[in-house]
Amino acid sequence: MTRPPLRLSWGGSDNRLRTPDSRLRVSSRPSPSPLLTATAGRRSVPDVARLVPYPFGALVGRMFRELDETQAIFDLPARRFFLGDPAKDLGVSFHAHRASSPLGPAAGPHTQLAQNIVLAWLGGSRILELKTVQVRDQLEIPRPCIDMETVGFNIEWSQELSLHESLEEYVKGSMLVDLLVASGRLSLAPGFGHTMFDMSVGYDLEGIRSEPVQSFIRGMQDATPIVDRLRRQIPAGLRRYRDLDFRTRLSDTLTLSTFHGCPPDEVEAIVSFLLRDLGLHPVIKLNPMLLGRTETDRLLHDVLGYRDIEVPESAFERDMTWDQAAGIIDRLGRLASSLGRGFGVKFTNTLIVNNNRSFFPHTEKEMYLSGPPLHVLAMTLVGRFREHFGDRFPVSFSGGIDRANFPDAVALGLAPVTVCTDLLKTGGYGRARGYWEQLTSRMDAAGAATIGDFIVRAYGMGDEALGRLEIDVTSRLACRRALEDSGDLRAASGDGVYGRWVSEAALLNTRTYVERVASDPRYSRARHLRRPRKIGRRLQLFDCLSCDKCIPVCPNDANFTFVMPAMDVQVIKMHRGDAGWEASYGGTITIREDHQIGNFADFCNDCGNCDVFCPEDGGPYVLKPRFFGSLERWRASSLDGFHVGRRGPDEVIAGRFDGREYEVVAADDRLSYSGPGFSVRYDEEDPLGTIEGESSGEIDLTYAQIMNALRKAVLDPHTVNYVSCAVGGEWTQARAVSTKRA
Ligand code: SF4
Ligand code: SF4
Repeated sequence: MTRPPLRLSWGGSDNRLRTPDSRLRVSSRPSPSPLLTATAGRRSVPDVARLVPYPFGALVGRMFRELDETQAIFDLPARRFFLGDPAKDLGVSFHAHRASSPLGPAAGPHTQLAQNIVLAWLGGSRILELKTVQVRDQLEIPRPCIDMETVGFNIEWSQELSLHESLEEYVKGSMLVDLLVASGRLSLAPGFGHTMFDMSVGYDLEGIRSEPVQSFIRGMQDATPIVDRLRRQIPAGLRRYRDLDFRTRLSDTLTLSTFHGCPPDEVEAIVSFLLRDLGLHPVIKLNPMLLGRTETDRLLHDVLGYRDIEVPESAFERDMTWDQAAGIIDRLGRLASSLGRGFGVKFTNTLIVNNNRSFFPHTEKEMYLSGPPLHVLAMTLVGRFREHFGDRFPVSFSGGIDRANFPDAVALGLAPVTVCTDLLKTGGYGRARGYWEQLTSRMDAAGAATIGDFIVRAYGMGDEALGRLEIDVTSRLACRRALEDSGDLRAASGDGVYGRWVSEAALLNTRTYVERVASDPRYSRARHLRRPRKIGRRLQLFDCLSCDKCIPVCPNDANFTFVMPAMDVQVIKMHRGDAGWEASYGGTITIREDHQIGNFADFCNDCGNCDVFCPEDGGPYVLKPRFFGSLERWRASSLDGFHVGRRGPDEVIAGRFDGREYEVVAADDRLSYSGPGFSVRYDEEDPLGTIEGESSGEIDLTYAQIMNALRKAVLDPHTVNYVSCAVGGEWTQARAVSTKRA
């Protein structure tokens, strides 16, 4: 009789990995698939999910090696890069600096770690709003914290790294970008390298004035000591870049994130401090509650149909009113002008709503809404703001940006146009490529080769905008002719008039867009009811649909693929009998696929996003093999998982199964296998005939077989992942960077 398949469980209520042993679970009923099967529910975070930055040298080595060997960087395929359009100038001004594009990731999960910054940059972002830092830099955030099942909610907060680590990650990200540009490996369009890093700092005056935050800001203004330390870590094979003229002044701009409910006079005091004392160019990020209760409810409930979303009254009570905000902005604008600094506003922060869904822990009474409905609220505020202030202040935008509305936000003259929610969906950072396809095709249709010309031409408002300018007849005729004949608008109008023309067109475009956006069905609730597809099957430790959706939806690039040959793992138990070693057999575990998913624990903060988009249940970050980046981190964690490393010439994998720890050391084909109460050695090909060593009881060789297979798979010289690149050391460094271009 054929025995039914054995089932591995990675979890249970205590979230541990179990292999079949004499106590364990030989399934008594036939399974549709003889695979290792996981049984855990959503991870209840028994262990704090702490992000751990990756060593700079290994990051550099991986970046170039991956580009060479797989035409990808940090798992983003080169075909998804956007490196500019040689026929267009997509650049914009931000606080008198030039950036090569108006696109940027919003301060959030996409600007947290160095590799996130590179991924956003590869998608064409050139104004990167770095994740908000604050004096309280040891946060414990409930998990999961990102709910993308429908429109987008989160309970995220500020940086999860310490201030010191955050600064270093931002410097690493900037240096990686500098290295990519200097390498000439990317087919970057001329002028598409101007990149800005915009600090985001919160949340109150006392915290911002504190020495740790001040030290962070000073570091961003002059990162020379960090750059000089990190440049020495560039791998030997790339040593020619150690003397590169890396950017050391990362930023002199700052987008202020205040607490929902920060008193208006405190907001004003903070911005005054940033302007006067720190010489920065600030932007205030404003809250959607500025719309007031009546208008918010009208739009959200009556127009868009999100009657299930409730904004608590306290959110309005805590926040500043429109009149207060207008007064503050007016005064700060005058102060900034008197000091010769830039000053702008950003619409908007997320919207506070009641946590009436079951996704987040019920301890969280409120959550933050983003996505399509926020787009309408934020655009309505942009419209109101511009009716009040005209084009006096630059406006940054965040709120439900996607490929369809990105060109409209650009046509309104908003910069930067930042995005978060959409990049958390299937395709991740690679979705930005679609934004550029839409924008450049709209620019082509409008006959515009620059962003300024696109603003004038996008909605056919160029002539009306021209009519609002006080210019002489000759100039007006020249402008009109250029407009009608697809001519060069700047050349026809001259620099001074051109700026005003673009400005008037942006105001007219704003009115037009805001009038129609609320009634656009693509923002209505009816369009956002469908959740990502689930197939009703639970993830297992090995094998799954192999759709790879979990790779790009992770903002931190924590999930990865590896190749492990399909195999049957014979369950073998060894014990010492009177006549020496004896074996008993417990069945076979079958691994059907060679394409497997792993999770790099150091980059996983249990945000939950890969679980939402995985067609199977349970969450890849919970149920797939978890690899720690260092032995210290593996030891410090109580979670089951692995660490793969080297000890001298030998490869070593440490594994924790069901809380019990094992180690396999591979020296050629000879394995040393140790665990609780035993230490043995044997030849991999013939364990029964060659085993020797000590044991106080039964030894389950199944663990060793699984660990050994994983070791070989993740260290395969043909594979690039964070495990192999951390272990690989100099072998990633010895490779010369080829001259191939992505
Ligand atoms: S692996 Fe999943 S849970 Fe972990 S950080 Fe990435 S998306 Fe979030
Ligand atoms: S773990 Fe889920 S999302 Fe990832 S490849 Fe497997 S089925 Fe797809």
